[in-house]
Amino acid sequence: MAAARTVLLTGSNRGIGLELVKQLLGSPRPPAWIFATCRDPEGPRAQELRDLASKHPNLVLVKLDVENPSAITDAAKVVEGKLNGMGLNLLINNAGIYTPTASLETVDAEDMVRAYKTNAVGPMLMGQAFLPLLKKAAQDSKEKGLSCSKAAIINISTVLGSIKKTPDSFFHPVVSYRCSKAALNMLTVCQALTYKEAGILCVALHPGWVKTDMGTQEADLTVDTGVRSLLSVLPILSEKHSGTLLNWEGKAIPW
Ligand code: NDP
Repeated sequence: MAAARTVLLTGSNRGIGLELVKQLLGSPRPPAWIFATCRDPEGPRAQELRDLASKHPNLVLVKLDVENPSAITDAAKVVEGKLNGMGLNLLINNAGIYTPTASLETVDAEDMVRAYKTNAVGPMLMGQAFLPLLKKAAQDSKEKGLSCSKAAIINISTVLGSIKKTPDSFFHPVVSYRCSKAALNMLTVCQALTYKEAGILCVALHPGWVKTDMGTQEADLTVDTGVRSLLSVLPILSEKHSGTLLNWEGKAIPW
């Protein structure tokens, strides 16, 4: 299967997002455009991204805070201008936040709402704002069925958002994170059912436990291995996977 020609990611200045950018740039057929979005492209936390952009003309940095609805629509306009009539093949909603200490004893309204805003509301608004560009990519594609090279929304979720699997990992309650990612999983199904007509694949992917600021250095997978696995799943995705939650090996996780 062909690779996506135009890709946009959120939260791409560190962790899994930054590694996705690096591996996409280094792939045998790199995308024509990679829109690497982050909260502060001018700031010290985006230095690595800026270094990459200075070497790769197909990498464009775009300011985007997924908690801010007007920042999302502004970013969509910038990307539309740059694409100059082309569509967007692949939207990866990667940005996420996590409060490791949030048990039912300690979690408060503010933490709950913040997690929900970033992890679920953000991806919903991203899907809405970039829908015209995703539709354009689907319309312009000659491919049959659904695929990541045609038009797709990939929501980076987690097994911790699986209701069925919760008892296996509840020694680590992370209530706000779990609830917000369960909402993201539901959003993925709603997006899959709604956007199917437009030719857009929508899948939630669990990257595994990955060594990042969020995953900590105790995690199972290096960021290199975790992202390599995630990227190897994308080309196998088709309509039968739309509206499902899969792990980094492409195996289904129950809701
Ligand atoms: P990190 O904490 O290392 O990085 C999170 C990224 O999200 C940063 O780039 C951060 O930007 C960005 N971000 C946070 N809030 C916002 C916002 N409001 N707007 C834009 N960007 C934002 O996390 P990971 O790389 O580990 O996680 C990436 C995704 O993978 C998340 O969705 C996470 O839930 C998921 N995941 C990770 C696992 C792991 O083991 N690491 C396991 C399962 C899922 P900034 O630098 O500005 O804060």
